[in-house]
Formats: sequence, C-alpha cells, structure tokens
Amino acid sequence: MKQFSIAIHGGAGTLVKGMMTPELEAKYKTHLEKALTIGYDVLKQGGSSLDAVEKAVVELENSHLFNAGKGSVFTANGSHEMDASIMEGKELQAGAVSLVTGIKNPVQLARCIMEQSGHVFMAGNGAMEYAKSLGFKLEAPEYFFDELRYNQWQEIKDSETFQLDHSLKKDSKFGTVGAVACDSKGTVAAATSTGGMTNKRFGRVGDSPMVGAGTYANNNTCAVSCTGSGEYFIRGVVAYDVSCLMEYKGLSLAEAAHEVINNRVLKLGGDGGLIAVDAQGNIAMPFNTEGMYRACQTSLGNKDISIYR
Ligand code: ASP
Repeated sequence: MKQFSIAIHGGAGTLVKGMMTPELEAKYKTHLEKALTIGYDVLKQGGSSLDAVEKAVVELENSHLFNAGKGSVFTANGSHEMDASIMEGKELQAGAVSLVTGIKNPVQLARCIMEQSGHVFMAGNGAMEYAKSLGFKLEAPEYFFDELRYNQWQEIKDSETFQLDHSLKKDSKFGTVGAVACDSKGTVAAATSTGGMTNKRFGRVGDSPMVGAGTYANNNTCAVSCTGSGEYFIRGVVAYDVSCLMEYKGLSLAEAAHEVINNRVLKLGGDGGLIAVDAQGNIAMPFNTEGMYRACQTSLGNKDISIYR
C-alpha cells in the first residue's frame, strides 16, 4: 500500500503570534484537527481522496471560524456569495460553483456539478436553480451571519476597499478553506471553498472556484488548494503552475510549491499560500504571509497542526 496523506487549510494572512487569545487559538486548532481527522479517517478506511477532501471541507464550511459556508464574509451589498471547486487527479474530473447564496455546503454542489451535470462550472442563478433541482436545502441569511465578519464589513462598507479575512491589517486577510489528499491508490484530489473577500463587488469571482488558479489535481504531478489575494492567484494560474513546474521542469513538490508562492506570486504582488500533495503522498504547505491555518497527517505517522510561521 502506498503512503496516503491529507492536508487542509483555513486561510492565510497576517496571523501573528499573540494576536489571538490562547482560547481562540485553541478553538482554531481543535476545529482544524477535527476536519483533518474526518478526512484522514476516510483514507484510513481505504476511501478515495475525493471523499476525503470533500468531507474535510464540509467540516470547515460548517464552522463559523472560517470564511466559507457558515461564517462567510459579507459582500458590498451585505449578502454572502460563495465559491467552491473540487477536482480529482485520475481522470482530471472537476466541478466548480460560483456566486451562490444560501447553500450550506458549496463544495457538495461543486461535486454534484462534476458528477451529475455534464458541466464543469456553474454560477449565479443557474447554479442556484440546479442546486434546488437536486434537492439542496437553502439556509436563511442568519445561518451565515458571524459578528466578527459583520463588523469587518461595517468598517469598510461605504468605501471602494475590499479586504481578505483573518488579520489585523485590513488589506491582507484570508479565510478560505481547502483540502488536498492522496489515497492509498495514489489518486490525488483537491477542494477549495470560500466566501471570498469582505466588501467584494457583487458578481466578483476569485481564484477558489477556478480550476488551475485556486484548485488543481493531476495524478502525474500533484493536487493543490490555494488561499490568498484571489486576483493575483488567477493571474498567476497558481495551482496549475505548481503542477507545470513538476511536469515540465522536473521539480519536486516542495520545490515547485515554494517557487510559486515565495517567488512568482510575490513578484506579481500577491500574498497567500497553498497546500499541496503529490501522488507519493508528500506534502508541501508554503505561504508568504505571517501565518496560515493548516494541518496535515500522513500514514507514515506525521501529523502537524499549525498557524504561525
Ligand atoms: N482566495 C480567496 C478569494 O480571492 C480569498 C481567500 O483565500 O481568503 O476569493
């Protein structure tokens, strides 16, 4: 049996030690561990990487601590518009959804789009209609309400500024969630889900639902889920770039992920990070911000749950 492994993230940003109370820090770590264990157990029982990443992301979406599903940030008009995507590396199947509201677990809708719609990417009203036809129950806006995120929005709501989640510094807050995994058959998968950026314009789409930018999976190389300033991650085609550096330049997972985050994205002016796994189960979790909520576990017995550098 090959090594199997999983990594998850809950966003990157200006996460400086001492910024949070020890209680809040412990809460973040507890939730990260819970989501990690849910995903890891799927792999341990011989399940697929696709199921593992979906289940881990659902758990993170259900926590108000992270900017995805419950706890999504507010848009400029005070609503929640969520994006998500999922991809597997054997057949390169992918599903993505953007600009949806009221959906408790957008990653599950992305998977349905991948497996049942014959399409890859659906957005807005069409995606909502499709969700309803599949029997997705809609949550009321109160379900997504989080006081911290509401206050963040109040601070900038009448300005042209939009900001990311998770930090003191207004322009560098990230809170997207994601998971990548390699199962015992050597198939990799990735999933990403987000509420996007606080006070983002109505209709703005970030990197998270974009195959190749925020999410990518290919058994020949790796699976990647990103978090950061989406506009830069789109322009850098970040997730696919990691895969390309491995495929065409022969870089290792660690080298490729480091090059993209600490060199290419930085040069573009973007900040954030990513989690990645290759088909041998190796993991990389680079970020160019002060911190990134992250956790990983491998069948070789390695386990890590971290926030800071
Ligand atoms: N990348 C996400 C976006 O631009 C934000 C984040 O990572 O928090 O929508």
